[in-house]
Amino acid sequence: MKMKNLLVPTLREVPAEAEITSHKLMLRAGYIRKLAAGIYSYLPLGLRSLKKVEQIVREEMDAAGAQELLMAALLPAEAYQASGRWEVFGPSMFKLKDRNDRDFCLGPTHEELFTQTVIDEVRSYKEYPMTLYQIQTKYRDEGRPRFGLMRGREFIMKDAYSFDLDEAGLDVSYKKMYDAYCRIFTRLGLDFTIVDADSGAMGGSGSQEFMVKSPVGEDGIAYCDACGYAANYEKAECVPQEKNCGETELQLEKVETPEVHTIEELVEFLKTEPYVFAKTIIYKADDKYIAAMVRGDREINEVKLKNLVGCTDDLELAEPFAVREITHAQVGFAGPIGLDIPVYADLEVMRMKNFIIGANETNYHYKNVNVHRDFEPTVVADIRTITDGDVCPKCGKPIKTAQGIEVGHIFKLGTKYSDALGLTYLDETGKPKVVVMGCYGIGVTRCLAAAIEQGNDENGMILPVAIAPFEVIVIPVNAKNEEQIKLAEEIYEQLKKKGIDALLDDREERAGVKFKDADLIGIPLRIVAGKKSAENIVEYKLRNDDLPLELHVGEAVEAAVKFITENR
Ligand code: ATP
Ligand code: MG
Repeated sequence: MKMKNLLVPTLREVPAEAEITSHKLMLRAGYIRKLAAGIYSYLPLGLRSLKKVEQIVREEMDAAGAQELLMAALLPAEAYQASGRWEVFGPSMFKLKDRNDRDFCLGPTHEELFTQTVIDEVRSYKEYPMTLYQIQTKYRDEGRPRFGLMRGREFIMKDAYSFDLDEAGLDVSYKKMYDAYCRIFTRLGLDFTIVDADSGAMGGSGSQEFMVKSPVGEDGIAYCDACGYAANYEKAECVPQEKNCGETELQLEKVETPEVHTIEELVEFLKTEPYVFAKTIIYKADDKYIAAMVRGDREINEVKLKNLVGCTDDLELAEPFAVREITHAQVGFAGPIGLDIPVYADLEVMRMKNFIIGANETNYHYKNVNVHRDFEPTVVADIRTITDGDVCPKCGKPIKTAQGIEVGHIFKLGTKYSDALGLTYLDETGKPKVVVMGCYGIGVTRCLAAAIEQGNDENGMILPVAIAPFEVIVIPVNAKNEEQIKLAEEIYEQLKKKGIDALLDDREERAGVKFKDADLIGIPLRIVAGKKSAENIVEYKLRNDDLPLELHVGEAVEAAVKFITENR
């Protein structure tokens, strides 16, 4: 491709709307443009990269025996109503009506549709196992679309679904996808970690996520270098720690704490430490209210709590009026004593002695509180978020934490959807049985964002050969120098003949502009025809190497072909 004919609207300024590196760079490099929050057009360079990501995904899915098909994105409501997800998705589902007032949605994920397809089309148990997939645009009306392609409302996903005769079959299909995912993310050049994930609301017997560690990741992950344990915060098991435990029980005391609401203010006011408190938070769980308690220096994990409570919608903090009604006090003075809603206490709370809680009375707290003597929780469980300083639940060594970008997710669904929609088969003896399913997603657009987040410097993107929009860029330094132009064109033609995805910068721009653009758009290898063109000597420079080499044209082309083919 010649750059004169290519739409590459690079920007020198950092667009104000972008907060994270990958988003900034994709805008600056002319990969994407925003249409509305979480909705983007993919310009030629962005699309080329995405197609390369898709192709890697496709090749590995095909190699693992999965079959590609393509479903509609505009979907009738019925299958989602049958599974219950028409309601479960709540406001994240884009819903619409046709001219005859029939309900439709834009597909957020396709378990129901694939299940229905197998119900309709598979006639004999002999056709199983089967894994079907598609690479398709998905729609989710995310609460916080942000970070460019990282969290879009319209995004590209590869979604696959496996269908097996029994659990043992599912284990085999799942492992095939697990292995394929490892190959895919390796080929994409992503430095990934596999973590155990929550399978809560979806049911099912196991689930893992593929995470790229990054400070901009929206998932918390806990991992142990000693034994290899790794889990999403939502799943990571917390071992109760000993702090504020073990003294003899002192007498319960009500203390006046005027105008102090937060733990920080209380710590200051009572001259103590956060771990001496137990905080009580009132939540709305569907149409009920519950209270949750953790030690004052801990955070409640709302996913763990939601799974425990078993509610459909995500938990929400109770509205102030509800808190006032339930606690008979202003917000900030809630405690478990005398509450008549269910109290969910974290395991650690059970070990604490003589702690401080809200007194359910404005401007008062209780001191020297002790479980069993002063109150009894309704449910005791691990409901807190793991943190630095915690220990590995497997081996007891210190746990580490990081933020992660979820690029893929594999999930043993079991029979949730086959039960709901009636996907059964008759076995050899004619007995009806339920098909066992798995589902497997990769965020194609998010993978590109993650790759850029992982590979960049102050000059722009540093993309792996496998997913860069072009593999090599050839630049004549002086756009008016015939000799340089001729040599650059020759190199470009030779590279193309050898099957290299080359780009020739034939624009009448200053050399500085061309070099800057080549760096910004992340092309892994640059060959420059400059002053020594008459001697057939060119500059050969890898995007992430500092120094260019001077090579004879023949050597440069040969080295380029070798480097590219080895790194594809
Ligand atoms: P998240 O927790 O990030 O919202 P999810 O768990 O809801 O994601 P899945 O239903 O597991 O997502 O979807 C499969 C994959 O699709 C995810 O692993 C992720 O890579 C990608 N994905 C999900 N939501 C988005 C989004 N809004 N924008 C871009 N990619 C997404
Ligand atoms: Mg997920």
